[in-house]
Amino acid sequence: MSHSVELHSVGMTFGRTRAVSDVSFTVEAGEFFSILGPSGCGKTTILRIVAGFLQPTDGAVLIGGRDMAGLGPDQRPTAMIFQSLALFPLMPVWENIAFGLEARGVAKAERRKKADELLHLIALDGYGDRMPGELSGGQRQRVAIARALAVEPQVLLLDEPLSALDLKLRQHMRSELRSLQKRTGVTFIYITHDQSEALAMSDRVAVMSDGILQQVGAPRELYDNPATPFVATFVGETNIIAGEVSAVDDGIATVESTHGPLRGRAGDGLAVGKAARLYVRPEALEPDGNGGNRLAAEIESIDFEGAFALAHGRLDDGGELVASIASTRLGNAPSIGERASFAFADVNAVVLPDG
Ligand code: ATP
Repeated sequence: MSHSVELHSVGMTFGRTRAVSDVSFTVEAGEFFSILGPSGCGKTTILRIVAGFLQPTDGAVLIGGRDMAGLGPDQRPTAMIFQSLALFPLMPVWENIAFGLEARGVAKAERRKKADELLHLIALDGYGDRMPGELSGGQRQRVAIARALAVEPQVLLLDEPLSALDLKLRQHMRSELRSLQKRTGVTFIYITHDQSEALAMSDRVAVMSDGILQQVGAPRELYDNPATPFVATFVGETNIIAGEVSAVDDGIATVESTHGPLRGRAGDGLAVGKAARLYVRPEALEPDGNGGNRLAAEIESIDFEGAFALAHGRLDDGGELVASIASTRLGNAPSIGERASFAFADVNAVVLPDG
């Protein structure tokens, strides 16, 4: 029903721009896989290479175990959905969906049947005779996805398909897309610069920066065990404390900082005597909590966000601190102007080498 996608040391150079360097990963068949990174990191280039719109300068792409070298988009078992939807405005919805089938010589009755099946899949039964202009933005987006699925691709490539939608609809479409992917079993490769989108929808995420693959992992793994400083700061919010490593023991590193010794789980490449940074999430900091690690700060503001509040504080060395406090516990929280001590457990922080 669906295919795996393997990238082996893929590189792409445009003139003097090295857009992608030595990227290798495998997307499993039937997986919802996202490529996440800031603008210009090479996401679209990778998707275009997988689709066959670009031939890589280096490396190889295998789909379903077959080398795709030299094959164009029409010769690959892939379909791509672009940022701009481009439904045909003068064609009813069902014909939009069946468009790719007409080119393949499928008879009209058969096309209509297939379009109706897909309309059911995207929960738009009975919308086949409407025109695209009579649909909401989210409905049009679903029609575009149905059109891509009509040709029965093994792999669907999605280039920020939700970026044009408003926040509420975008959040709704996240779960729609996720459940559609699970129902069809088609391999999805989804690119986005929005980390919450990638975390919410994906089985696994590849994080990219400057054309280089930083880490591949399940959302929870990236959040809890970032492998590089880029992943630690790009995926979710974090506090950063700089210092020097004084010990690495049993997977726990001690960093001597201006706030005293602080401990966290040791990342790769740490060495005693070398510079490092400790990363700790806002929700891991507990005002007046227990735990060997303490950070004292003067509270400057408390921003109420609904389910939680963000307390912003100034550390003794002038650095910033952000702690997330559940709203249900705000009663005991420190107030603005107060000096507060926050504790965190070793296992809730990560230490990574500097630079
Ligand atoms: P965005 O989120 O803004 O779309 P992206 O992560 O998808 O960004 P790419 O479009 O893959 O990034 O571009 C990666 C780099 O390659 C950028 O520096 C870009 O300017 C460059 N680039 C992309 N396509 C070309 C091209 N056809 N010719 C020259 N340079 C290109």
